Parts: sequence; C-alpha cells; structure tokens
Amino acid sequence: METSATCSLCGPIPDYATEYYNLDDSERKLWRQALLLKSHKLHHDDYFVECPECGALFLLENDIASTGSGDYDGLVLTRLRAEDAAVLREILHRAGRAIEDPAGLAGRLLRLPDDVCNVVLIDLWSRDRELARRLLPALAEHYVARGCGWLWGFLMGFTNTPEDATLLLGELDRHAATPGLDHLRALARATVCSICRSIATHATSYPYAPTKFRLDALPRDLATLRRFGASSRTDVWECPECDSLFYWRSEDGLEGNLSRISEPTDKVRACLQSAIDGKAIDSLFRRGGEWERMAFALGMRSGADLVRPLVPRMVGRLASEPERWLHDALCELARDPATAAAVLASIAKLKRTNPLVDSLAARARAN
Ligand SMILES: [Zn+2]
Ligand SMILES: [Zn+2]
Repeated sequence: METSATCSLCGPIPDYATEYYNLDDSERKLWRQALLLKSHKLHHDDYFVECPECGALFLLENDIASTGSGDYDGLVLTRLRAEDAAVLREILHRAGRAIEDPAGLAGRLLRLPDDVCNVVLIDLWSRDRELARRLLPALAEHYVARGCGWLWGFLMGFTNTPEDATLLLGELDRHAATPGLDHLRALARATVCSICRSIATHATSYPYAPTKFRLDALPRDLATLRRFGASSRTDVWECPECDSLFYWRSEDGLEGNLSRISEPTDKVRACLQSAIDGKAIDSLFRRGGEWERMAFALGMRSGADLVRPLVPRMVGRLASEPERWLHDALCELARDPATAAAVLASIAKLKRTNPLVDSLAARARAN
C-alpha cells in the first residue's frame, strides 16, 4: 500500500487499493478516504475522484465479482499519474471555455491509459457533447489508422441523432471503406434515412434490439420498403434509401419480433439476390443460431433443391437443440420421398434422439 503523494489530504491514500463492500463501516477505510475527495460521476458506476487540495485524480471503479453473490464485490481506487491527471482536468474543468486546439487535446487524450481514455470518451456524450463533436475529426482519423474497439464505441455515439450522424458521415467520407467504417456508415445512414428512420424497432438504446409486433400491426412505413416475402414466420425488408435490412421472425405467424440486421448483412444480402445459389445459403446457415432459420426461409423462396443439402446439418441441430421450426422445416422437405430417405439416413446416424426427432422420423417414414 504505497503512496507517491505528500498531500495532507490524499497522501494517505495508496496509489492502488481495493476494498470489499461487505465490510463493516468501521473497516471501510478506503471508502471513507474517497469520500473526502470531490467526485465526478461517470457512466455506470465509475467515478473520477479529485483531491480538492492538490488536484490529484483517482479512477474509482466498481469491481463486480463473477460469483454473483455480492460478497466479493468491491471498489478499486487507482491514482492517475500526474501528467494523465493534467489532461483529465482540461476536460473535467472545461466549463464552456473555447477549445483552442482539438487535435492537440485528442492527441493528449489518446496517450491516457486505455481504460481511463475509454471512460472519459463515453462520458463526454452526457457531459460535454460539444467537446465530443470537436474531437471527432482527430479521433476518427486515429480510429482509421489504428482501429481500436473502444474508440469505435465512441464514434458509434454519433449515430444516435440525425445531426451527429450527418457530422459523422461527413467525416467517414474522407476515409476509404473498411468493415469497421462500413458498419458505422450503415448505422449513421439509417439514422438520417428519410424512409426508414421512423421505423423504431428498438425500445432500448441499442438500435438492433428486437421489438415485439403483431404481423397485422407492423410499423406503417415498413410498407414503403422492399419486402422479400419469405413467409409469415420469417421475412426480410430492405430500405431503398439506406440499404437497412429488417428481419421478422415469428413462431406462430401472428406475433413476433422485428429488428434491424447489423451482421452479417453481406451474407443476408447474398441470399436476397434473384440469382441466389446454394453457396450463399450455406454461408448464411453456417453463421448458426437464427441465421440458420433465415437461410432456410430465403432459400425456400427458390425451391427445395437449394436447401436440400442442409438436411444432414438440420437433423443434427434438431437432435442437439430441438426447435419447432427445424422440425416443421424438415417435415416439409420430407414430403419428397427422396429427401425423406435422406432425413431417415441422417437420423440413423444420430447418437441421441428426442421427441421432435422421433416425430420427424415418423413423418418421413410415412412418405
Ligand atoms: Zn491531494
Ligand atoms: Zn432507410
């Protein structure tokens, strides 16, 4: 428990210390020391705390233990190096002062430790949006040159309002396409889109979260998009202006979830072409999860021949994850006697079975 400070107020606080929350109040020495400092609340539960005597800054983080019991949750207090604290004070104490040299400030920010820089930038969205906008060109430049996950998160903050998204698009236009930038561009284009931005598919701040709808009460503007008409249980729409894709999935064909598709849009698009081939379906199916279902539905639009090669894998999936749609899809394919034989051959190779597999076997044998 060492300290590098000589300050009368924060000197006794170690440069790095942890403390469990479930101690008695009398034992929570670190917590009481932190209370003497001025706090700058950040997003979630992280704070910067600042010494009112000497200006030293500490990052105070909640460390939530993976046990989930709460017994091992605690706080982590880290004293920032003097040069890092100086950069942070420029931001925390800006108070509307003009930003003379945003590129210089961005450079100093990026030299902060990654975790500190990350919370500072995310925090800027609520604390100082004007500063976030001024830093955009330099930070976008840095992201393009280096790539870096948390910086991508900062840039994504610009896709939340049409004004900021327009700003971001102007910035992205100066750079060549890369997958990371393409994803940002797609998000920003959807935010400013005159056709589909009104289709709110998200109750949360995450734009790709699915939202519940009834099939007969989908958002009205969806009707202005191109619908691919796979089925009442699985369907896709594409916006002619921003290329956004919307995905509908339903268990009963009456109620379901509508969401924007973030990834893998290229694989989905390949399955929407009129010249769809088995390779495109196979590639989307391999993404697993709900994409298997979409690959099947989009493939079936061109007929069973395209999706028949998926039978062995679909049977395997039905055995490991018994889902109703897989059972129904395989039953549909098994109406063709040759496919029924292929279904039974795949079932014969299974190490274990379940009621849905048994039901499929009975249907296939009857054909
Ligand atoms: Zn101090
Ligand atoms: Zn659109």
